[in-house]
Amino acid sequence: MRTPPSSRGTPPPVTVGPGDPRYDDLALRRRNERFDQRPAYFQLAWTTEQVVAAVNEAVQAGRPISVRSGGHSMENSVGEHPDGVVIDMAGMNAVYYDPEFRAFAVESGATLGEVFCLLYLNFGVTIPGGWCHSVCVGGHIQGGGYGALSRSLGSVVDYLHAIEVVVVDEAGSARAVVATRDPGDPRHDLWWAHTGGGGGNFGVVTRYWLRSSDAAGDDPRGLPRGLLPKPPQSLLSGAIMWSWGDLPRDAFRRLMHNHAAWHEANSAPDSPGRTLHSTLMITCRGGRTHPPTSWSSRCSTAAGPTHTP
Ligand SMILES: Cc1cc2nc3c(=O)[nH]c(=O)nc-3n(C[C@H](O)[C@H](O)[C@H](O)COP(=O)(O)OP(=O)(O)OC[C@H]3O[C@@H](n4cnc5c(N)ncnc54)[C@H](O)[C@@H]3O)c2cc1C
Repeated sequence: MRTPPSSRGTPPPVTVGPGDPRYDDLALRRRNERFDQRPAYFQLAWTTEQVVAAVNEAVQAGRPISVRSGGHSMENSVGEHPDGVVIDMAGMNAVYYDPEFRAFAVESGATLGEVFCLLYLNFGVTIPGGWCHSVCVGGHIQGGGYGALSRSLGSVVDYLHAIEVVVVDEAGSARAVVATRDPGDPRHDLWWAHTGGGGGNFGVVTRYWLRSSDAAGDDPRGLPRGLLPKPPQSLLSGAIMWSWGDLPRDAFRRLMHNHAAWHEANSAPDSPGRTLHSTLMITCRGGRTHPPTSWSSRCSTAAGPTHTP
């Protein structure tokens, strides 16, 4: 097990049950308030060792375990069980360079906003993650993870070098294991199981290591090609909104078709259009107050196109 090099001192684990003023706050730390399941207790952990202890305790008590990092699953796939425990990863949010792996370590409770900020300000690199800064990597990376840079750089999971997962063996004993993308790693299958299928299936992921598959060297700030991609030098963005009144059925159908067809026709690896990302948001079906919106952004680099779409 590894800990961040500049460990901030480890607080003790925190258990929060009904009656504790923090319980309702934790119960509501989910994105979709349509769901209101409440567990027997929340377990906050700050280290991998504390997660191992929390899992052992729950297994011995026969309690179902759910894991939550950012709570941004719209379907509440965390699925709190009334007799269960929710292991909340919010306290494990370190982002640092790990020389042993020659990769960037990111703990599951780190938000995308923290990851973008720390990777860029410390090392000048980035990942092609999603737009919502409060999504956590805990669920995001296991689900694939895509964002404005994905048309040119791929998904976040393309950069997944290794994971640390707390798993339970046949005897019911929890431990942390590390699985890597090295095909010779005996735990390679466990790494593969975390490359897009979604969270909450195989164990509690405590840490991810990120590195480009073709990275060379061990300098986290290395130029011209670092261990992760360099972000574009600039980003141009714009939004267009349509009124529902201006969008009869045929026009709406044409808008949907053209939006998808343009992306399909401009997605080749060498296409200048690969740096343009556009999200078409259809926010409301019946009402007329929330029209469809298209957000577009083009990332330009010294080598790439610089004109606006
Ligand atoms: C407003 C918003 C914007 C979004 N934008 C994007 C986007 O631009 N691109 C994109 O790709 N996705 C986007 N998403 C989807 C988001 O990436 C997924 O919902 C992701 O799973 C959220 O991760 P989380 O840790 O915040 O959520 P959680 O609800 O905490 O977890 C999601 C699932 O992963 C499991 N899980 C969480 N942490 C762990 C862990 N440490 N170990 C094991 N299992 C775990 C949970 O049990 C649950 O099943 C967006 C979601 C929202 C709400």
